[in-house]
Amino acid sequence: MTEHGLVVARYRRHSLIEDDDGDRVVCQFQSRAMNPVVGDQVQWQSEPDGTGIVTEVLPRESVLTRIDNRGNPEIVAANLTQLVVVLAPGPAPDWFLLDRYLGAAALTGLKSVIVFNKLDDNDSPPATLESYRDLTDCICLTSARQKTGLTELAECMATERSALIGQSGVGKSSLINALLGDTRQAVDKLSDKGGRGRHTTTTAVLYGLPGGGELIDSPGVRDYAPYIADPRDVECGFKEFGQFSGNCRFDDCRHLAEPGCAVKAAVAAGGIAARRYESFKNLLELTESVQEKRR
Ligand code: GDP
Ligand code: ZN
Repeated sequence: MTEHGLVVARYRRHSLIEDDDGDRVVCQFQSRAMNPVVGDQVQWQSEPDGTGIVTEVLPRESVLTRIDNRGNPEIVAANLTQLVVVLAPGPAPDWFLLDRYLGAAALTGLKSVIVFNKLDDNDSPPATLESYRDLTDCICLTSARQKTGLTELAECMATERSALIGQSGVGKSSLINALLGDTRQAVDKLSDKGGRGRHTTTTAVLYGLPGGGELIDSPGVRDYAPYIADPRDVECGFKEFGQFSGNCRFDDCRHLAEPGCAVKAAVAAGGIAARRYESFKNLLELTESVQEKRR
C-alpha cells in the first residue's frame, strides 16, 4: 500500500518525506531515474526497517529550474508559489539580475517579493526601487541586523511557499535565521534522525514558517540562475511591455530592429524604463546563447 507525502529535505541519494500526519520518514528512491526534489508531492511505501521508498513523483504545479555548471537545466525545487528576491545597499544592487528573477517568476507563474535589506537605522532605499512598485507583488524594507521590517516580510510569506534568492552577501541567511527563529535547529536535528542524514549534505530543506507559509532553502536555490528555454518567452517576463507590444507592426516583433515597434517607441517616450529594455535585450541574448550551446 502506498501513502502520500511531501518531500521536506533532499540529500544526494535519499530524501526526508513528511506524511499526511506530519511524521517524517527517510526514503530511498525506487529507480535511479527518479528525482524527487523539495516541495514534491510523492507516493511512498514503508519498509520493515522503518524507512521508506518513493514510488512515484506526482505532477508538479511549478518548478524552479536553474542552469548547472555544465550548462544543463537542473530542477532545484518544486511547487513553489513565490520568489523572494533580496537586495541590499552592498553588494550594490544588480538590477539586471533582479529583472532576470522577476522575469523567471512571471514565466513560471510565481508571485514575487522584493526585499531591500540592510536598511539599518531606517536608511532609505535607492530611488530605482520605487520603479518596481508595479512590477512585483510586494516590496519590503528590512534590516535583519536590527530586526526591522520582518513582520511585513513574514506577512508577505504567510500564505505562500517561498524561496529567498539574491546575490551573495545581501543577507539571505541572516533573514532566514530571523524568520525561522528556533524552527531551523529543530528541523535540522530531525533531518538527522535515522542516522542517514548525519554527515550527508542536504541539498535543500523545506521549513514551516512560524507566521504561516513555507520556505524552501538550499545553496542551489540561493544561487539560483534562472533558466529560460525559449527566447520567445523572455518578453513575458517584462510585464509592462504587454500594454504596448500589441501595437507593434509585426505580430512576431522581437522588439529589436523591427520597424514600427511599439515597445521601442514606448522606451523612447519614457513609457518603459530604458534600463528595463536593456535588461530585456541582455536576457534575450543570454537565453539565445544558452539555446545555441545546447544545440
Ligand atoms: P547571504 O550571503 O545573502 O546569505 O548573506 P548573509 O546573511 O551571510 O550576510 C552577509 C553579511 O551581511 C553578514 O556579515 C551579515 O552579518 C550582514 N548583514 C545581514 N543582514 C544585515 C543587515 O540588516 N544590516 C547589516 N548592516 N548587515 C547585515
Ligand atoms: Zn516590437
